[in-house]
Amino acid sequence: MLKIVVVGGGAGGLELVSKLSKKLGKKGLAEITLVDKNRTHVWKPLLHEVAAGVIDKNSDGVDYRIHAARFGYQFQLGTMIDINHQHKSITLDPIYDDEGDLLLDKREIEYDYLVLAIGSVSNDFGTPGVAQHSIFLDSLQQAERFHKALLNQLLKINQQHYPQTKLKVAIVGGGATGTELAAELHHVANLAKHYGMPQMSADRLEVSIIEAGQRILPALPERIANSARSALAKLGVNVMENTRVASAEKGAFITAQEQKIEADLMVWAAGVKAPDFIQELEIFETNKAQQILVKPTLQSTACDDIFVIGDCCGFKQEDGSWVPPRAQSAHQMADLAATNLINIVADKPLKTYRYIDYGSLVHLSRYSTIGSLMGSLTSSSMFIEGRLARLVYISLYNLHQFAIHGWFKGILVLLSRKVSNLVGSKLKLH
Ligand SMILES: Cc1cc2nc3c(=O)[nH]c(=O)nc-3n(C[C@H](O)[C@H](O)[C@H](O)COP(=O)(O)OP(=O)(O)OC[C@H]3O[C@@H](n4cnc5c(N)ncnc54)[C@H](O)[C@@H]3O)c2cc1C
Repeated sequence: MLKIVVVGGGAGGLELVSKLSKKLGKKGLAEITLVDKNRTHVWKPLLHEVAAGVIDKNSDGVDYRIHAARFGYQFQLGTMIDINHQHKSITLDPIYDDEGDLLLDKREIEYDYLVLAIGSVSNDFGTPGVAQHSIFLDSLQQAERFHKALLNQLLKINQQHYPQTKLKVAIVGGGATGTELAAELHHVANLAKHYGMPQMSADRLEVSIIEAGQRILPALPERIANSARSALAKLGVNVMENTRVASAEKGAFITAQEQKIEADLMVWAAGVKAPDFIQELEIFETNKAQQILVKPTLQSTACDDIFVIGDCCGFKQEDGSWVPPRAQSAHQMADLAATNLINIVADKPLKTYRYIDYGSLVHLSRYSTIGSLMGSLTSSSMFIEGRLARLVYISLYNLHQFAIHGWFKGILVLLSRKVSNLVGSKLKLH
């Protein structure tokens, strides 16, 4: 039977295996295997909320093994470290337990078709000191690390009786992640006083967003950036535009103008690149962001039997721009890769990919949601704000839930999330 291996069960990969399992796996037309280095899937756009502690990975995560059992595919826990494209196999790193004892040795998995959906990592552009001193928000582990550090700092500030002592947070990168995190932290600082930290409030929080470009949200229309800037200003967030960070040291970012921005918590969210090991494989053609170049069918330019989707995929559009690394791109690519793999099994011609920009939304916690809709479906985009924008923002997450669970279970999952939000704590304290 045809073996299809998908590496990476994120926004794109998990939607893809759900579809392939339904259309091929359950009909006995192909054997589907998902490989991921984590045991649990959390939709990446929620990571800043995990970091701030307003959602819990236990109620919002999907256990791959349970999902695999339901959809009838195989799940292999492990980190892919190599691809042998001549022998059509991938290698997974050994797995050790918490005591350092070997659990699973290095393994090889064979494929007929491989799909790479391994996402992206933060790009520190080689800025000295950044990797050592700041926190990235690339994975659940990193988001949880930030959350622990945040709780510790909240406890510390709460004990200081001088109101002028503030918790300082510096976020490099004024994209969606940086701006959304800043607003979420403001909300959390106010929540903390209801959870045994009576001295804490947003008045004792000092958040700076440091953006090298001319304005925050550089990838979005200017009107959205202006609206977000004034919403952040109302929250007291210090937005520093045209400010490039040249280095980082313990407790501070240093700008190119040698300004020292001190911080108790330092976050780097200034752009992404595909994981470094892709280059080391020496198989693929890549672009500046290390993304793997693909043909219009989403097959890599190096090997027809390797498809690439999501953030690690370098897809050049007709106007010369690259498809942006977004959840909606990963979703659309997962759809097309599924269609093409189904067509391969059915001996039908492959389809080509076209990115449709349905717009972008920035959700500034409970304070504001701003965005544009239908970017390239109409000649101009429609600006939306407030409740309508919030509704559309939530529907993106809902659509992902329906894609990975099906409609019925998806609705149940969303309802159970609502109930757990109602009865549970508004702030995760562990
Ligand atoms: C805080 C934050 C907020 C965001 N907000 C938005 C938003 O509002 N709207 C939007 O459109 N986009 C948003 N994004 C971007 C969006 O999350 C990504 O574009 C999307 O998740 C990409 O999907 P993907 O499937 O390519 O990768 P991911 O969703 O990142 O999945 C990659 C998967 O691969 C696994 N993996 C990686 N390497 C290996 C390996 N070597 N071996 C095995 N498994 C591996 C990982 O564990 C992960 O499960 C946000 C991103 C962040 C960080």
